[in-house]
Amino acid sequence: MSLYVQKFGGTSVGSVERIHAVADLIERTAKEGHQLVVVLSAMSGETDRLMRMAREICSIPDERELDLLLSSGERVTISLMAMTLRARGIHARSFTGRQVGIVTNNSHTKARISRVAADRVKAALSDGAIPIVAGFQGINELSDVTTLGRGGSDLTAVALAAALKADRCVIYTDVDGVYTADPNVVPNARRLRTLSYEEMLELASLGAKVLQTRSVEFAAKHQVPIEVKSSFTEGQGTLVTREHADMEQVSVSGVAGDSNQAKVTVVGVPDSPGIAGELFGSVAAAGINVDMIIQNVSQETLTDISFTIPRAELPQTLDLVKKVASAINARDVAVKEDIAKVSLVGVGMRSHSGIASRMFQALSREGINIIMISTSEIKVSCVIEEKYLELALRTLHHEFELDKDSTTLK
Ligand code: ASP
Ligand code: MG
Repeated sequence: MSLYVQKFGGTSVGSVERIHAVADLIERTAKEGHQLVVVLSAMSGETDRLMRMAREICSIPDERELDLLLSSGERVTISLMAMTLRARGIHARSFTGRQVGIVTNNSHTKARISRVAADRVKAALSDGAIPIVAGFQGINELSDVTTLGRGGSDLTAVALAAALKADRCVIYTDVDGVYTADPNVVPNARRLRTLSYEEMLELASLGAKVLQTRSVEFAAKHQVPIEVKSSFTEGQGTLVTREHADMEQVSVSGVAGDSNQAKVTVVGVPDSPGIAGELFGSVAAAGINVDMIIQNVSQETLTDISFTIPRAELPQTLDLVKKVASAINARDVAVKEDIAKVSLVGVGMRSHSGIASRMFQALSREGINIIMISTSEIKVSCVIEEKYLELALRTLHHEFELDKDSTTLK
């Protein structure tokens, strides 16, 4: 008998009808003779609604109270689902994060899991029951409720699959897998059958919002294979798993865009030791995630340093950077907001050369100017004008033949 962890996202359980549809799916899997642990998100939009209410009350709500509030969305869906299954004569039982024993650190709203006891889940399983677990929540050492960051139900599912040594962790969502590009922008994007953890991490951090980034990191660390599937349609999904040799045959697995970026340039910085350390030290201390950094070759004794950050963090970053800039006698701080990042991702880049130059040439043929470039072993990213992002995505998708079947048969 296999043990499956099945997680259903917010749209999958977004209404009473959807809860019935998911109950059908759970019932079918159970009847196939598998042991099942179900993890649920809150109904779609619910966590946002709770957040809005909290913000109406005060602009920076107390985080302990916020976590208690946000965790309530998942209690609604697990209890409704358990009722639905029980009304059908299926032995199901709901469990909150506390009841499961998901213990986290004290970082409210983005807590890290330190251990998963899962005693009651195990007991329910040996009782022949189906545990229905609230995603996204845990407790700290004081038993206060914590949440695991937005999209954190994915992490609950992966962590439970690891703790229970489940045979499979299936994440059901409203799309049928991970695509070679965003199908809303690139109509001939194709579903990938398999993808490595590393590729998924790059794509997730680039805004392919299929899986929470931290859940993929956790899965990679504990070697939990994740299957991403649709709860709305039958059929295969995408398997996210450890890298294997076949994956390298394809140079590029996917192309992703991110338009939530901004570029900051500190102009006329003295070119002397310690300056970059001071600048980025203060930005890092504020928890701001700097992505690309470019320092120009200095003209005489002055240089320019440019870097990109998430656009939402621009006001806070500018505050800090302006202070440092005046302290180090930099000439000016300039900002460019209408930029976007386009990236190619693929483990095959390790063994294929010329990917970056082919990317630059394809962009230049479309008259798209490259503002910044960065590369890693499995990724090439270019910052471009935001207005060209969709064109760039379609151009690169075509250039690397991601629409062709062979690329998905990895
Ligand atoms: N309900 C939470 C959120 O909206 C967690 C999740 O859905 O995974 O972020
Ligand atoms: Mg999600």
